[in-house]
Amino acid sequence: PLFAEHYPAFAHLLHRLGSAQVRNRGTLGGNIANASPIGDTPPVLLALGSRLWLAGPEGERELPLEDFFLDYKKTVLNQNKENQGEVIRAIFLPRPDTDRHLRVWKLSKRREDDISAVLGAFGWRLEEGVLRDVRLAFGGMAAIPKRAAAAEAALEGQPPTVASFQAARAALKEDFQPMSDVRGSAHYRELSAANLLERLRLALGVENQAQDGTDNPREVMLHAYAH
Ligand SMILES: Cc1cc2nc3c(=O)[nH]c(=O)nc-3n(C[C@H](O)[C@H](O)[C@H](O)COP(=O)(O)OP(=O)(O)OC[C@H]3O[C@@H](n4cnc5c(N)ncnc54)[C@H](O)[C@@H]3O)c2cc1C
Repeated sequence: PLFAEHYPAFAHLLHRLGSAQVRNRGTLGGNIANASPIGDTPPVLLALGSRLWLAGPEGERELPLEDFFLDYKKTVLNQNKENQGEVIRAIFLPRPDTDRHLRVWKLSKRREDDISAVLGAFGWRLEEGVLRDVRLAFGGMAAIPKRAAAAEAALEGQPPTVASFQAARAALKEDFQPMSDVRGSAHYRELSAANLLERLRLALGVENQAQDGTDNPREVMLHAYAH
């Protein structure tokens, strides 16, 4: 209910996480510590700028989520083979801010009980017509859930125009070299990640027609259940 109130895009995604059984039993901490590159919540938490509070026999520490994932299924958690030791004690989300926006889109073959092929989670503010604090995070594009640093840099401080988003889509090639697997080929992943950025531009067009004016702001099925 808190997500539904403050981060509706996040709440909406949760309808697409696993099955009713998984949603009833799974925890946010488990979804993060599982360290799957295609876990659904880490990209969203990265886009929001979340921090983790870790606790273990040697004490406690706090760190930004982007410092938590090291490599495929490897995290900074100081644990032994039996998964004993440090745990995620709390997950901090920034206080909701009406100027800050979040969009989340999960691409999977089925709506229900399917793992993402690609998931894009995008956070930003629009300040005097330019994008600020842009955080673009993806699942399914690397060995870990990861922010797209080059694409973010292409958008930061820019107006949400066709040209700036074209630059961001091109920059994604520097950020990710995805792999092919049963959920999607490398080509599919590259193309659909870039397309999600284009969808973001269209969404911004809808919200900011006055500032944009560069292109047709129509977007198909933005709010549909299928995302
Ligand atoms: C049928 C099915 C469908 C699924 N679909 C999805 C999906 O669509 N999207 C998705 O993201 N995931 C999916 N999952 C994966 C998984 O269920 C979720 O990631 C869930 O959020 C895991 O949470 P959990 O609490 O059950 O963690 P667990 O499975 O209990 O734990 C996962 C790992 O994290 C460790 N861990 C758990 N909590 C903590 C903590 N607080 N601190 C440190 N380590 C911890 C455990 O020791 C374990 O190594 C699916 C799983 C199944 C079986």
